[in-house]
Amino acid sequence: MKQPARKERNLADYGYPTSDVATLSSKALEVTQRLTDLYGELPFSSKDPMGQLVDILLSHRTRDEQTAAAWENLLKRFGSWEAVRDAPTAEVQETIANVNWPEVKAPRLQSIMRQITGERGTLNLDFLCSLPVAESTAWLNRFEGVGPKTTACVLLFSCQQPLLPVDVHVHRVSGRLGLIGKKVTADAAHTLLQALLPQDSRSIYNFHKALLRHGQRICVFERPRCNKCVLTDLCDYYKTVVKPQSP
Ligand code: SF4
Repeated sequence: MKQPARKERNLADYGYPTSDVATLSSKALEVTQRLTDLYGELPFSSKDPMGQLVDILLSHRTRDEQTAAAWENLLKRFGSWEAVRDAPTAEVQETIANVNWPEVKAPRLQSIMRQITGERGTLNLDFLCSLPVAESTAWLNRFEGVGPKTTACVLLFSCQQPLLPVDVHVHRVSGRLGLIGKKVTADAAHTLLQALLPQDSRSIYNFHKALLRHGQRICVFERPRCNKCVLTDLCDYYKTVVKPQSP
């Protein structure tokens, strides 16, 4: 019996807009270049992976300054991550009261710290930096409350491993530019966007920081400031919504 013809998947099935990957890839590079020229290149983090994990767990839906203050306050009050792990949860919660949802973040932080200690015998994640990326990713991604964004932040920022974190800003700006399709979730965008970039940690870090800062300053959630944007000629949202071009 004749088999029905197998339907070929096209790029749209994978969540990309319908241009070809090479075009999207050069758009991603051009975006990175223009925004890095505008905002400047940033150094990698000086935090070790454990400190970075704490930082990212505190940072969810919280401004950078508040996250930094909570992180400092934890070390000031308790002196070490081991002491944070063993402290009464109410005290940890009180110390990070300036971030959003301290009642969720405090017990989660301590639970992850206890699990790490149980498995490694110590609260030190430096070993992740010497593992192959697939192994370090799988190791970190297992903990409750640690998703692809948190894992990628720790491994890229502190270990300089080539993994792209996609936060709300990177997700929103990429969607408006048309680097990913409109229905692609932030979690799914990690793989799609990373596939458009050179696979070295510096290129991936520059892309992340460029879109993050642009999303915080210009391409904001409500009413993007397109009149101040250096990307209008590359942006699908600008061409279709802000200044629709006649066919
Ligand atoms: S043109 Fe507007 S929507 Fe497009 S990236 Fe710039 S600010 Fe965002």
